[in-house]
Amino acid sequence: MSRPAPSLFAEEDLPDNLAPWEIAEQADRWYAEVVFSLPLTTIFHYQVPNDLRERLQPGCRVEVPFGRGNQSKTGYCVGVTREAPTGRTIKSLTAILDREPLLDAHLLELTRWIGDRYLCGWGQVLDSVIPAGVKAGSGTRDIQFYTAAPDAAERLASSKLPPKQRAVIQVLLDHAAPMPIGDLTAAADCGPGPIQTLRQKGWIVADRRRTMVAEFDAGPIEPHTPIHLNLEQQRVVDTVLAALRAQQHQTFLLHGVTGSGKTEVYIRTIEEVVSYGRQAIVLVPEISLTPQTIRRFRSRFASVAVLHSHLTDAERHAQWRLIAEGQVQVVVGARSAVFAPTPHLGLIVIDEEHETSFKQDNTPRYHAREVARHRAALMRVPLLLGTATPTLESWLRVQRREDQLLSLPRRVAKLPLPPVVVVDTRNDPLIQNKQRAIGRALFTSMQQALKSDGQIILFLNVRGFSPLMLCRGCGNSLRCPDCDLTLTWHKQHCKALCHGCGHEIPPPAACPKCHRPGMQMLGMGTQRLEQEVHSSFPGVSCLRMDSDTMKARGSHHDALEQFRHGDVRILLGTQMIAKGLDFPNVTLVGVVDADTSLRQPDLRARERTFQLIAQVAGRTGRSARGGRVLVQTACPDDSAIQFAAKHDFLGFAKQELEERRDCQAPPFRQSVRVIIRGLTEDLVQAESERLVKLIRTVAPANVRVLGPAPCPIAKLQKYFRFHLQMTSDDREALRQTWLATAPLFTPAKDVEYAVDVDPLNLR
Ligand code: ADP
Ligand code: ZN
Repeated sequence: MSRPAPSLFAEEDLPDNLAPWEIAEQADRWYAEVVFSLPLTTIFHYQVPNDLRERLQPGCRVEVPFGRGNQSKTGYCVGVTREAPTGRTIKSLTAILDREPLLDAHLLELTRWIGDRYLCGWGQVLDSVIPAGVKAGSGTRDIQFYTAAPDAAERLASSKLPPKQRAVIQVLLDHAAPMPIGDLTAAADCGPGPIQTLRQKGWIVADRRRTMVAEFDAGPIEPHTPIHLNLEQQRVVDTVLAALRAQQHQTFLLHGVTGSGKTEVYIRTIEEVVSYGRQAIVLVPEISLTPQTIRRFRSRFASVAVLHSHLTDAERHAQWRLIAEGQVQVVVGARSAVFAPTPHLGLIVIDEEHETSFKQDNTPRYHAREVARHRAALMRVPLLLGTATPTLESWLRVQRREDQLLSLPRRVAKLPLPPVVVVDTRNDPLIQNKQRAIGRALFTSMQQALKSDGQIILFLNVRGFSPLMLCRGCGNSLRCPDCDLTLTWHKQHCKALCHGCGHEIPPPAACPKCHRPGMQMLGMGTQRLEQEVHSSFPGVSCLRMDSDTMKARGSHHDALEQFRHGDVRILLGTQMIAKGLDFPNVTLVGVVDADTSLRQPDLRARERTFQLIAQVAGRTGRSARGGRVLVQTACPDDSAIQFAAKHDFLGFAKQELEERRDCQAPPFRQSVRVIIRGLTEDLVQAESERLVKLIRTVAPANVRVLGPAPCPIAKLQKYFRFHLQMTSDDREALRQTWLATAPLFTPAKDVEYAVDVDPLNLR
């Protein structure tokens, strides 16, 4: 969609001191509004040459002369106007780079909003959300298309053509649309020869078109057994459908315990959306894009596009095209699928709304939930957020009646939630010394589960063998030279690896500082846990899933299939296995170390711990066989753990919100974090202090400025890092403060900064 074409000047609008030819010229002038991939809020104007006017539409990329040197630069046309900006000479754009807009008017508006809300340039947003494959036209080629000449039918009646050539003409006459050579030779059962001859004789005309050649394999549709919704599910579906039919925007928070049938609710609602000829977008965390999830959607809808991070540029482009043409009913994808160019959007669903992967951690640092909220409002369609553990942000909105709460408090088929046993590890010296990962209680439970033919999931969110290599002599720990992080010992590949930058060295035989031989390996990672499982349960098949073992495309799928078929009895891994998996035979889940998450120096550490326990607990008790959960911790009395053990989200949310209110933290206050980095520590610090001073001069009374201080990870990939925060209960005040500061602050050479609105991680 483009802006309505501005009407010609009305007579009375015309200035009266211009000559008639000047009037004609002015009335005829068009300007392109152009943004660049730069952290600027400015929109630039370029004159549109007459011969390009017809083809220029908002959403196309254009080539323009930029800056003093008039270097050629690519920008995005975001509007076409007849209003000339005054007071400066206006250059002309030199070329239009796209035949069709890359985004429609709604998505353009959405990207503008993101620039505003997340304090970055509109062009930066456009550059980030339009996939590289779409910009490059990956997977397309110029192909000849053939049509019969206008007089071909007439000539055919009166002339004698060899049979092959006659067949070609007949095919083209029968076929309404132009045909590419491959289709034509196949239909006429001939080679390219007759076609060339006909073309030379003027019987047919050829024209080159840019065509998608990448094929996209959607996979087979699988059968499914029909499911009757229970009363609670039906009520939820009806409520969302009512909003859908009323063409109203409403955000619903579906709080449903794990296994309460949320996915089934999404599917039913989407069926209705699809029946109106509209499309739905379903966002899931990347790690939930498992074959299991995809299979469920594929078995219910004829055309499902799956947008995951392993697509090639050509595949992504092919999907984007199909979606934009309205050929896809349901788009299932990770964060960036919120920008899928559906022509008639009917509904957006976000599953596992609490997942932090919905926030992008480079510019634009948007949160897909907030973008979805805005997109759904623009399109006047419902947004459905589903989770067993809502974020406190979403929970507060429900309490303030900004969003509507829907609940599925019970699992389907009357299955109870599994009992959660909290195991105090403080009196288990082997665990305390990190010599062992599996304590006595967990060990016994594992034995029992295996004896009764059950399967086990063990969760530990630390990869590698041990995260700390310490010298017994001088107490020195092995650290990365480029990051403020300790190196993790990866025993299997015999290396000491930095998880911040990938720097690796052979594990030193002696302390690099005091040269005492032998380093002590401390702490427990998944590799070490795997080794312990092997030695404690010899002969029992065990599989480790973490980013080290799951590098190859398809390995994730293969691993889960092995587990599904029972070839693997014990599955252990990082957060990769905490979500979404639905295996009825899992009768035991062990959280090896709940304290890893609880001890993080982060405002949301308790919230994340609660979520983690609730999510892993969701992996068991999914059949009549039942199941149980063991949580090992040295903080058994922590309320996050206690509430999680009782499956009491309401209790947890109430207490945690009170605490957040008392300390004036999100979600009660908004915050903007600025990270400053550079290769020279003193300079970074000086620039950070200068920036804070500038902010203080413009900030109104309701904006608090904290810092600067070194980031918790004070050095990363050679860069020294400082940060500061602005907080306020007034989002607009924060925005205005930054907009007033940014133009005043040009960082010194080699110092950069990044702005993070509503930061989720403060590392
Ligand atoms: P959630 O998304 O809340 O974890 P799911 O939608 O995955 O829950 O449902 C859990 C299991 O229960 C799935 O295997 C699903 O097919 C099944 N299920 C969902 N709704 C019903 C129902 N009304 N009756 C029977 N089984 C159901
Ligand atoms: Zn490093």
